[in-house]
Amino acid sequence: MRRILLESLTRGPLTEPPPPPDEAALAELAKNVEKAAQARLGRSLSIRQVDAGSCNACELEIHALANAFYDLERFGLRFVASPRHADVLMVTGPVTKNMRDALERTYDATPNPKWVVAIGDCARDGGCFAGSYAVVGGVSAVIPVDLHIAGCPPTPTAMLKGLLALLERVDASALAT
Ligand code: SF4
Repeated sequence: MRRILLESLTRGPLTEPPPPPDEAALAELAKNVEKAAQARLGRSLSIRQVDAGSCNACELEIHALANAFYDLERFGLRFVASPRHADVLMVTGPVTKNMRDALERTYDATPNPKWVVAIGDCARDGGCFAGSYAVVGGVSAVIPVDLHIAGCPPTPTAMLKGLLALLERVDASALAT
């Protein structure tokens, strides 16, 4: 018992150390965020996830962001249930024809300033579903996208890097206004 107590007092945290923000993401965001940020968000972002037609592997990696290892909330990032409470739309999958209208309505329901992060290769350009009769294309074919995070699926660390870059960029822009 004493050994366990001693170990728990001296052992460091078991969570993943935060990755540095992604440099490519920072460059992409420099174009898109500066002109949009109008108010300071207090270094927190609320995220609404939208599955526009993915195979659900991207969702499995997104779910991992909330577990005790990646622990997204320690950075001030959290998922919300409604676009009306969101700053960021995190969209996965190619946009299917059936989901096009829902994605547009979700975008319209999200208050300004807002940012769209396209997750995975399908969200960038349709990925392996590009050209399908059921698919419109990547997310940017339907709504404006501020940041793409590549991968099939992207790892939780890649998503965390992109989101931390977004948080950093939004915070810097807001401070400058
Ligand atoms: S990027 Fe890959 S994992 Fe994500 S929805 Fe497309 S096929 Fe599935």
